Amino acid sequence: MKGGYNTAPTSAILAFFKQNPEKRFTARDVGNSVNSPVEQANRSSVYRIIDKLSNEGFLLKYTDVNDKTTSYLYSEGHGPCNKHAHAKCSECDKVFHLKNEILEEAAKKIIDEYGFDIHYKDLMITGICKECKEKMNKTRHP
Ligand SMILES: [Zn+2]
Ligand SMILES: [Zn+2]
Repeated sequence: MKGGYNTAPTSAILAFFKQNPEKRFTARDVGNSVNSPVEQANRSSVYRIIDKLSNEGFLLKYTDVNDKTTSYLYSEGHGPCNKHAHAKCSECDKVFHLKNEILEEAAKKIIDEYGFDIHYKDLMITGICKECKEKMNKTRHP
C-alpha cells in the first residue's frame, strides 16, 4: 500500500476518531460507523488500519481489565500515545494522557530499585478524576 495516510479508508477512520476525541471505540464500532470509503475496504482491513494507527501512536489501544474488550481512543494532539502513560477514571471511564515528565522521577527510582524499565505505552493508571471526586464530595457533604 503506497501513500500512507492519504488512502481514503485511513483518512476516514482518523476523521471519525477526531470527531469523537473523548470516546473510545472498538474496531467493530469503527467498522459500523465509518461510511463510504471504508465500505469499500473490508472488515479485516479496518482492523489492520486501526492497528497500524495505534502502533504509530495516533490512537491509544486499551484493553479493559474487566471485560477484556479492546478499544481505541484518539490521541487528540497529546502526542503519540505509544510514548506516554495514561490514567483512566474508574467512575466515568474518561482517559487522560499523562505527561512523562511527571512520571520520570518515579520511573528513575523504579529502574534504580528494581532495574525495571517502564513501557509507557502499556501503562494505564486507574483512579478517580477531579470531576467525579467533586461530584462525590457534593453527595457526601450536601
Ligand atoms: Zn495518549
Ligand atoms: Zn471521572
